[in-house]
Amino acid sequence: MKAILKNLGIKGTEEGGGTGSAIRCHGRLLDVVSPINGKRIGRVRLADRKDFESVVQCAVDAFQSWKMMPAPKRGDITRQIGIALREKKEDLGALVSLEVGKIRAEGEGEIQEAIDMADFAVGQSRMLYGLSMHSERPIHRMYEQWHPLGPVGVITAFNFPAAVWSWNALIALVCGDTVIWKPSSKAPLTAIALMKIAQGVLQKNGLPEGILGWVVGDRHEVGEAFINDPRIPLISATGSVAMGRHISQAVSRRLGKTLLELGGNNAVIVTAKADMDLAVRAIVFGAVGTAGQRCTTTRRVIVHEDIYDELTQALMKAYRQIPIGDPLKPATLMGPLIDRKAVQNMQSALSRIKKQGGRILCGGEVLSGKRFSAGTYVTPCLCEAPPDAPIVSEETFAPILYLIRYKTLQEAIRYHNAVPQGLSSAIFTTDMREAELFLSQMGSDCGIANVNVGTSGAEIGGAFGGEKNTGGGRESGSDAWKIYMRRQTCTINWGIELPLAQGIRFEPV
Ligand code: NAD
Repeated sequence: MKAILKNLGIKGTEEGGGTGSAIRCHGRLLDVVSPINGKRIGRVRLADRKDFESVVQCAVDAFQSWKMMPAPKRGDITRQIGIALREKKEDLGALVSLEVGKIRAEGEGEIQEAIDMADFAVGQSRMLYGLSMHSERPIHRMYEQWHPLGPVGVITAFNFPAAVWSWNALIALVCGDTVIWKPSSKAPLTAIALMKIAQGVLQKNGLPEGILGWVVGDRHEVGEAFINDPRIPLISATGSVAMGRHISQAVSRRLGKTLLELGGNNAVIVTAKADMDLAVRAIVFGAVGTAGQRCTTTRRVIVHEDIYDELTQALMKAYRQIPIGDPLKPATLMGPLIDRKAVQNMQSALSRIKKQGGRILCGGEVLSGKRFSAGTYVTPCLCEAPPDAPIVSEETFAPILYLIRYKTLQEAIRYHNAVPQGLSSAIFTTDMREAELFLSQMGSDCGIANVNVGTSGAEIGGAFGGEKNTGGGRESGSDAWKIYMRRQTCTINWGIELPLAQGIRFEPV
């Protein structure tokens, strides 16, 4: 652990705010504890209100010069950030594992995602396209252009302590915005390590402080100031539905923009014509990967009655073979939950499911003994559930998978869409008609819909996000860049007359 922290320049106590380089903060000391063994990894001196003010003002000032740099040159900076991240990929991946308990492959995968985003952003920097339109007036030209928006606030959840920042920040950077990051206080060290690397690149290029800032602080003091600050025109917030609802109301009150990436409750439909082997592998990765702590985690499997028993048996067999333990060990496939509170939430969900007519088929135990002394390890749980059990509509951020039986595909789609969240979805079938029905407007109501691909593990090239209570935001690929810019529609009259639109005449007769 010491070597990882040393390689990333993380000291025993780090400052919880920076404008590029760290600033001296004045809040309380926060212990950062690893869910792997409950031991302290480091400490962070939280930012207070005044520290927050310095970070925001610096981002406001830096915006004036950053927005003037040509976009492809800004792209070159993100290219260099990508190279710097590549050099530290292993250490950063290991820090993600230490801080949030992901297995090593997933920790490194998350850093790879940030590297991919840097590459993507380089290309995007030359593709901030606007449309041109034909004017209805003669000798007029109309087009739209996109300008930088301002300092963008990025709030991230604990479970993707690196990738979500990169989805937002690297695109916002090429769009000409400065970025202020408020990472989860459960994972501030990964954020600080990333900021140190990015700042090295900015400094090498002689760029001013404030282009990439960060602030770790108490929710009531710093969090509220952050979301209510009119100098931050866009707040991109990733986290629970409750958090999103609160932030959306606060930002809307000041007529700011939000990009919300909130909780999911993702389902896989497995039809009688599914390739069973493919379905089982995808469901196990989707439900057990990251210990069930992904927004895209598979939480419900809706199975045709003819193959229900076969699929259930196959899943139970796979669940019993999952190696659980230290996520830094190569053989481990499932690490701990983020903290004991998450374990309690899982236990309380399991007792509710029993009261609501469900039945636990396997797993759901809290592991004890020396290897599991942090109290954060559980076995992944498979349950049978009535489709209308209230708990099935909730996102319990833990590895619980509900199995639901169906007779017709229309019934399956009805169960599928009956939850308030709308992030990721999948169907496993080899029947083209079933697949197309699922993808049609009569099918899945989610932001992501897959065929023979599980619900988790999206690629960066697509726009990522979900509908309904998931918040409606889109990040990462496709045209997600547009939210980080302001659109301007321009009309130019290059003639000597002044015709009005809609044929209106406004002159004395
Ligand atoms: P959380 O809602 O507890 O916290 C998320 C972030 O919001 C943290 O940084 C937290 O400090 C901040 N926050 C909370 N209240 C705030 C306030 N009033 N003002 C400012 N900031 C505030 O979520 P979590 O436990 O860290 O993460 C798990 C949740 O995130 C799950 O619901 C998961 O589905 C969701 N998530 C969604 C996506 C997505 O892309 N849709 C991705 C990852 C996680």
